[in-house]
Amino acid sequence: MSIQKGTIGVTTDNIFPVIKKFLYSDHEIFLRELVSNAIDATQKLKTLASFGEYKGDLGEMNVKVTVDKEAGTLTVSDHGIGMTADDVEKYINQIAFSGAEEFLAKYKDNANAIIGHFGLGFYSAFMVAKKVEIRSLSYKDGATAVKWECDGSPEYTMEQIEKDGRGTDIILYIDDENKKFLEQGEIDMLLKKYCRFLPVPVVSGKEQEWKDGKYVDTDRDRVINDTEPAWTKKPAELTDDDYRNFYHELYPGQEDPLFWIHLNVDYPFNLTGVLFFPKIKNNFEITKNRIQLYCNQVYVTDSVEGVVPEFMMLLQGVIDSPDIPLNVSRSYLQSDTAVKKISGYITKKVASRLEEIFKNDRPDFEKKWDDIKIFIEYGMLTDQKFCDAAMKFALLKDTDSKYYTFDEYRTLIEGSQTDKDGNVVYLYATDPIAQYTYINAATEKGYNVLLMDGQLDSHFIGLLESKLEKSRFVRVDSDVVENLIPSTEKKDINLSSDSRDMLTEIFRSQLPKVDKAEFLVSFEALSPEANPILITQNEYMRRMKDMAAMQPGMSFYGELPDSYNLIVNVENPVVKRIMEHADGELMPELKPIFATIADNNAKSQAIRDNAKDGKMTDDEQKQVENYDESTTHQRSEEKKLATAYAASQPLVRQVIDLALLANGLLRGQELNEFIKRSVKLL
Ligand code: ADP
Repeated sequence: MSIQKGTIGVTTDNIFPVIKKFLYSDHEIFLRELVSNAIDATQKLKTLASFGEYKGDLGEMNVKVTVDKEAGTLTVSDHGIGMTADDVEKYINQIAFSGAEEFLAKYKDNANAIIGHFGLGFYSAFMVAKKVEIRSLSYKDGATAVKWECDGSPEYTMEQIEKDGRGTDIILYIDDENKKFLEQGEIDMLLKKYCRFLPVPVVSGKEQEWKDGKYVDTDRDRVINDTEPAWTKKPAELTDDDYRNFYHELYPGQEDPLFWIHLNVDYPFNLTGVLFFPKIKNNFEITKNRIQLYCNQVYVTDSVEGVVPEFMMLLQGVIDSPDIPLNVSRSYLQSDTAVKKISGYITKKVASRLEEIFKNDRPDFEKKWDDIKIFIEYGMLTDQKFCDAAMKFALLKDTDSKYYTFDEYRTLIEGSQTDKDGNVVYLYATDPIAQYTYINAATEKGYNVLLMDGQLDSHFIGLLESKLEKSRFVRVDSDVVENLIPSTEKKDINLSSDSRDMLTEIFRSQLPKVDKAEFLVSFEALSPEANPILITQNEYMRRMKDMAAMQPGMSFYGELPDSYNLIVNVENPVVKRIMEHADGELMPELKPIFATIADNNAKSQAIRDNAKDGKMTDDEQKQVENYDESTTHQRSEEKKLATAYAASQPLVRQVIDLALLANGLLRGQELNEFIKRSVKLL
């Protein structure tokens, strides 16, 4: 064959400037493309040999990447099927290329999309090379070697050459802007990234050894890849250590994973992989070590959004599928039905594996629960199907660190924690130390208290209330223990309205000023053993504030002060003492005030009642205003007297402070005064 010249069969005038111009961002993938082609050629020959269609000696079947800095070349060599002149004509010269410009404009920032779409793998070499040479000898009997050469214009030359040995060398004459690809270090890095799990040994550079105080090259070729990574093997062939070692190979320097899931499907799509549950230490900070996507052991990407459900982004590991359309844009990927199926499959598989671990080794599952809880809750919150599956194995943990499934827990508390409307009340604590008093009161009453201190728990509680029938979650400090689970019989409070007024003023006057907090005084007839005063926080308001903290749009709730209920237990002996003393000392002074107020109220009410058609005359209006004014004055007198009296009664302040102390609300100077007062009282 003499030198043949021709024009590459594309419809665009000159594809190469386009390739160079538009594919700037992902230059490095040329190496992945060329090595993949070399691997394909190698695998094809192996397949032919296994069918007996190739009878020659296979010999060494590795792929070699050689940097020659002096010559300015990078060469990818294989011993695969090779190409005849006809093959080169067919596969290299005739690129099917229609609507190229339009497409390129659309995907100009996504080199992967363009390259994959047009089978431009080989041509990606022109992103970094000013000239590319192919030297190839086909495996076919009597084939002659061929050299193809192209300098980046659509013209190429082809000629017959002598070549030792079957296979293909792709020689890139690296252009000036891409000199870095002539550094062995850079090539090593790229091979590690894209080729570390390729199924055929890829060699590049030399093994090094320590000699005379430094590393020096030996004459042994260095293999850079693991040709049989764990996910390509059968689960039965692998030990736990194999999985752990593979994990550490993927993510060096990480702690052991908690669990792993070996994926293996061949219908209705092909997918293999191993997913690991990492030990998540700091919140969601796992962005670095993400799931990697492979296509027949070729690394493609670690942005797997759309391929795996969102919550699984917390997992690590490898997914390998020839069926995921890898070379298309992200939005296309997400709408692809095959991808949707894959995502659904992975969800199902992860759920069933978790259930299996739960069933087979519950103690181990419980041991790991605290670590995987965030993952499972996240999954349940964001994925309906996963949620349904997880209802069987998700656990609740109580304040004694005991674990229950949802069903077990309901059975446990149903008898003792059902309220008068038939709702099962789930009590929970978010901070076992700060809420200790309330937890203690509840457990003493025979209730069980859950620990809900996870980052997602406030959302998760909402989900559970909607999933679990007739159920309600109530934080253990949201009310006094007697009221947490309202029953029909509620003890009446034996307190006249005068006494109630008086006591309210006494206690209110002694409340300290706590920043961003508001207190409402109320009375309850709790058991005599219960504390004299309890401070509770309304469940609804607290949840609103918690949510506000997480969602910027709800800042209104965030601005509100914390509103607490100060509940005075009128059955407590100390409170009884305070009440009796006040009845003796203060009530006689207040009696005339209360009488005046009652009189004012009665009189102004009478005027209102007598007004014709509900309309008061100006005179009547005036009288009513006078009574109201008098009442306001009397109230302030009452307040003055009550405040002066309460100030002389250290016990009042003492019981309030005890309650504040139990809630971590007593701080600084107030705490100091409390201590001094306590010493004095002792
Ligand atoms: P794709 O690999 O997507 O088919 P490429 O442009 O990368 O597209 O390659 C085109 C064709 O050229 C391949 O399908 C293959 O037939 C042939 N080819 C490329 N590289 C080699 C090689 N190293 N050995 C044998 N054939 C090759």
